[in-house]
Amino acid sequence: MAIMTSPESAIDPLTEQDNLTSELANLEKQFAERKVQEKEYELLSKQLKGRIQKAESNAYNLARTNESIARRLRHRNFSNPEIQQVISHFLSIGDKALEPSFGPDRIPRYPIQTETGETVNIERSLLQRMADIGMVTEALYERSVSCPKCNSPSNVYLRFKCTQCGSIDIAINRMIEHLQCGTIHQENVFLVGRNLICPTCKKQLQSATDYRVIGVVCSCNICKAHFEDPVQSFYCRACKSDFSLPSASVVDVFTYSMSKSVYNEARRFLGVDALTRLLTENGYTVKSPGTVVVVGGHSKETVFSLTAQKDSRLIAIDVSQSDTEVEVEPVLELFVKVLEANPTLSIFGAIPVLSKRARDVAAMHNILVAEAPNPTELAIKVLEIAGRK
Ligand SMILES: [Zn+2]
Ligand SMILES: [Zn+2]
Ligand SMILES: [Zn+2]
Repeated sequence: MAIMTSPESAIDPLTEQDNLTSELANLEKQFAERKVQEKEYELLSKQLKGRIQKAESNAYNLARTNESIARRLRHRNFSNPEIQQVISHFLSIGDKALEPSFGPDRIPRYPIQTETGETVNIERSLLQRMADIGMVTEALYERSVSCPKCNSPSNVYLRFKCTQCGSIDIAINRMIEHLQCGTIHQENVFLVGRNLICPTCKKQLQSATDYRVIGVVCSCNICKAHFEDPVQSFYCRACKSDFSLPSASVVDVFTYSMSKSVYNEARRFLGVDALTRLLTENGYTVKSPGTVVVVGGHSKETVFSLTAQKDSRLIAIDVSQSDTEVEVEPVLELFVKVLEANPTLSIFGAIPVLSKRARDVAAMHNILVAEAPNPTELAIKVLEIAGRK
């Protein structure tokens, strides 16, 4: 058995978060039963909430390097409706990456299409959390400079300033060399109307191959100073503050993609939301993901997409979605888990349909099958099967 050790605590932050959450639930129960004074309750609950938050952010930090924590966090998050939207979007765009679009405020947003065809913007923070736990991979796309005061990139402008007096009222002139005679001058000395004429040999410069740009020369319209490299800085119009690169906050903006392996893992949780809702409305106690602890020689967890319990009947349900037909592997997987967990009933939900081989295997192993084109219709079929038997 793997034992996690960290300098702060002997247990991993996710288990710590669970323990603290049940501690908080206990405290709330005690307060409701008036076994704890209000002052003490408020103090303790504030402390616990702070520790829960800290444990959660520790878990996300650790997930970048610890696959076991990452997987557990993925399982907890697959049923989040916003994350399901993102996963469905990745299914619809194939291998392409999700790119940001920058509005007039220059804040990156990630537009995705929902199943009903409308476009919604996904916040970068959500995708970043998905990246923390390995649901998506990120690739650097752009770096944006934010103001250190207001933390926003919206009103930040790059400024070129006079090295002597700091004014931004400077002329920036290109220095060009006429290759044929070697004359070097500012571009405006060559300019006659819209043509470039060499001031020395009087020949016209026909194309870009007749000359080369060798740099820029700046002159200040205020103090008349000449210099080659203007001072560069940033200015936030909202805060009216000038800042340089060392004090700017430079934010990495990424594109996001979903790997095949995570997608296969995620398939089992797409559509689980609609099922959870409908089964709960019909008196079932639903857990998603549905973890069943198998007590044997050593106890072991078996995880279904969801479990639904009513009276003493436990129904284990796995769901899988495909863009064409669901193959046999997830059906076999359910069969193995059913042998371990021994639920009253097991149902495999496929969106949109099962392959013929998968259907044969399900029939052979007494796994009931529901097929439907979308999660809502699948939920109705699963409910019907659950009530029938
Ligand atoms: Zn600002
Ligand atoms: Zn100047
Ligand atoms: Zn010339």
